[in-house]
Amino acid sequence: MDRQHRVMGALVGSAVGDALGAPFEFGPPAAYTARFPTAARGAHTEMCGGGSLGWEPGEFTDDTQMAALLAESLVAHRGLDGADVVDRFRTWAQAGPPDIGVQTSAVLLSGLPWDAAASEHVRAGHRAAGNGSLMRTTPAALFFAGAGRDVTVDAARRQSALTHGDPAAGEGCALFHEALRALLEHRDVDAAVADALPLVAEPFREKWVRVCDPAWTPADATEANGAVWPTLGSALWALRNSRTFEEALRLVVDLGGDTDTVACVTGGLAGARAGITGIPVRWTSVVHGRIPGFGDRVWELRDLQRLALQLDGRVEDLYEPPPSRGLEPTEVADGVWASDLEGARGSDRDFAVVSLCRTGGRFGHDVQRMVYLTDDDTNTEIVTVLDEVLEDIAALRADGKRVLVHCHGGASRTGLVLRAWLVREEGLSAREATDRVASVWPHLSEHNSSFTVALDEFSRRT
Ligand SMILES: [Mg+2]
Repeated sequence: MDRQHRVMGALVGSAVGDALGAPFEFGPPAAYTARFPTAARGAHTEMCGGGSLGWEPGEFTDDTQMAALLAESLVAHRGLDGADVVDRFRTWAQAGPPDIGVQTSAVLLSGLPWDAAASEHVRAGHRAAGNGSLMRTTPAALFFAGAGRDVTVDAARRQSALTHGDPAAGEGCALFHEALRALLEHRDVDAAVADALPLVAEPFREKWVRVCDPAWTPADATEANGAVWPTLGSALWALRNSRTFEEALRLVVDLGGDTDTVACVTGGLAGARAGITGIPVRWTSVVHGRIPGFGDRVWELRDLQRLALQLDGRVEDLYEPPPSRGLEPTEVADGVWASDLEGARGSDRDFAVVSLCRTGGRFGHDVQRMVYLTDDDTNTEIVTVLDEVLEDIAALRADGKRVLVHCHGGASRTGLVLRAWLVREEGLSAREATDRVASVWPHLSEHNSSFTVALDEFSRRT
């Protein structure tokens, strides 16, 4: 898998976890599975919103708000500038975010100098090993991963100390940075954490050794999961006991308690493992939020993807796609329609739109799924993406939705998904499906040979 897929997976995965867990914050164990016993791929998904703070479906909370502020500072200053990060955090805290950690709030609003406030908080006898610095550290872990162990561990501790004066929290961030670095490099995460444990300062090591042990489970926790130890311990436990992003997130949201933060931390690691295409499209498509104190801008998937790539050292401008021809939606199979970008942008709002290209943002339909599928031969995950998209289309059809599939020109990616749909739904061969689509949708293009190979593989398997 492409490293960039893992980088985007980590940042988007943490925001997705945050938004997925938020409605269940402070709730009892197993509430998520009670509500969603199986995958909810139709018009209403597990991104249900609500909870005690009344989140919108897909809305991220303070975890991602702070992570985005840290990320923008890292990119702007090409490093960790503590004064600048705290300045941004204070602007945010003063704007009254709906969700803010008790300790984070006390430190940021103390009026003390930026480099003294957190340690003063500890000196005054307050508990300070909450998970509030761990929850936002994914951007720093991405930014410093390429610089190697010593640099990233040092950055983790400094990042944590901006609000969390208890070094135990910083040691947790350091272990997280090493875990994420291993996943980006496709190494075993438990082995990486075991290698990093000797770096943990002596008075804090024993407790970290305990929660990072592969035999540890959340039932062994000695604190509620608002503390840093069970938060990271639960994330590592969920990775060990899952194969997919979706499975890992179900495990941790079902723990109850501080579900948004535990899912955010887990989502960062599970997203790096799965890559951007391994995170359910129905979740990435709706993740969004505002950052109090920083205007009305609504952050969405493309902003997080771009920020992730910037953290990884790539210069990324916000992509605005050039206009396409404006092909009117056409029904290609029962209830499944095709168009190009402009055709989809201007389509009836009751379509469920499946976007296979970069769109420059959401169109305003109630249901729009944004699929990560590039039209070149670098894809190693085409069949995985097809499985995911077709399952969603089937669920949306079962909910009575007309589904509109589009990409920029409506030719290659759109053609691939429509052909695979006919293979799956009507048992056609790849050739028959191609002929059928071409007869109603003359814009179909077969120029991408990796798509042809993937469609053949898909039809053999189906
Ligand atoms: Mg939160």
